[in-house]
Amino acid sequence: MNNREDCVAADRQDPLAHFKDRFDLPAGVLYMDGNSLGVLPRTAAGRAAQVISQEWGNGLIRSWNSAGWFDLPARLGDKLGGLLGAKAGELVVTDTTSLNIFKALAAALKIQQDRHPTRRIILSERDNFPTDLYMVQGLIDLLQQGYEMRLADDDLPLEQALDETVAVVLLSHVNYRSGAMHDMAAVTNQAHACGALTLWDLAHSAGAVPVDLSAAGADFAVGCTYKYLNGGPGSPAFIWVAPQHVKDFQQPLSGWWGHQRPFDMATRYEPAQGIRRYMCGSQPMVSLALVECGLDIALEAGTSAVRQKSLALGDLFIRLVEQRCGGHPLELATPCEHSRRGSHVSFLHPEGYAVMQALIARGVIGDYREPQILRFGLTPLYFGYADLWDAVEILKEVLDSKAWDKPEFKQRNAVT
Ligand SMILES: *Cc1c(COP(=O)(O)O)cnc(C)c1O
Repeated sequence: MNNREDCVAADRQDPLAHFKDRFDLPAGVLYMDGNSLGVLPRTAAGRAAQVISQEWGNGLIRSWNSAGWFDLPARLGDKLGGLLGAKAGELVVTDTTSLNIFKALAAALKIQQDRHPTRRIILSERDNFPTDLYMVQGLIDLLQQGYEMRLADDDLPLEQALDETVAVVLLSHVNYRSGAMHDMAAVTNQAHACGALTLWDLAHSAGAVPVDLSAAGADFAVGCTYKYLNGGPGSPAFIWVAPQHVKDFQQPLSGWWGHQRPFDMATRYEPAQGIRRYMCGSQPMVSLALVECGLDIALEAGTSAVRQKSLALGDLFIRLVEQRCGGHPLELATPCEHSRRGSHVSFLHPEGYAVMQALIARGVIGDYREPQILRFGLTPLYFGYADLWDAVEILKEVLDSKAWDKPEFKQRNAVT
């Protein structure tokens, strides 16, 4: 594909092209941030109106039973599990990714307390998403049992950092900045060989790359539904626990929704058998219900077609940026190798923040991450080859004209 016509022709051949009609996209926008906040499924506004007017307005409290509210976290979990290599009853949609990390990590440490009582290391990566590291720090402070966080980085590669002092390995499957992807099965095997348990953060994986938690032998996983799954801003996250850990899964946020019989109103907490015990309290039903709109589209499209197109878009984007924007100080921060790449592509630029603001002002919406990273999400369900061509031309124009070099593009917003 060396010109726009080639890209238009590729869109015509694209078996996923028709999925674009399932979403409401604003005119004049080339959206390359679906890895951070997905777009609006066409069914979502109607579903929201139905939940609000009928289920809440008319059904009132009866809807916990009659509209299936109470079972919704588990019912959605079964559907989502199908995308992630989990069986029915293994996964639940609830709370936030941050909270689910806390719950899963606490449960994993508790399991290890019996198996390897002297282990005190929680291993992660220095460039992991900060909330993951913050939640580890909070739990360590709370437990006061001498746990320490060890961070793998360029000086301490993961394989070296993994030894027989490690209790739990907490990793993002796809790195939020670089888009680099771990081999989940291989890392899980290495961790298990050392006697460590694994907790995978699938925030940038779910709905974007193939994941098979069962085949990888993973122990715990969490992730978001508002990114590639198009669940809506702040939509509830998910938590998966391998079947062999379910009965040992004791989490500290022992709220009534995790109780075996919440409506017994018993004084003592008794964890539910199975996945209900991963939950804590009442869920935001309006938001939770909308998760299904995006999820149904993802299930219909299937991960393998999405992955194939995502890699093709990524290859094309890398090649076009290198060809069309060659003279500019852009440096690819994402691995080229398919097996090591997620579904976004990042470039470093010394004025990355201002460049991204200038792009956004022209309707090319990506985002910026410290330090210097221009991040472009590739979302095969609603982003095509001609869109990609146009986005690269706009990037070229912004760089060639130095349009980014204006004070208004250097003013930092609260959310970058
Ligand atoms: C987006 C993201 C999160 C977000 O966590 P929330 O609790 O939903 O805000 C967590 N981890 C990773 C790796 C992410 O990319």
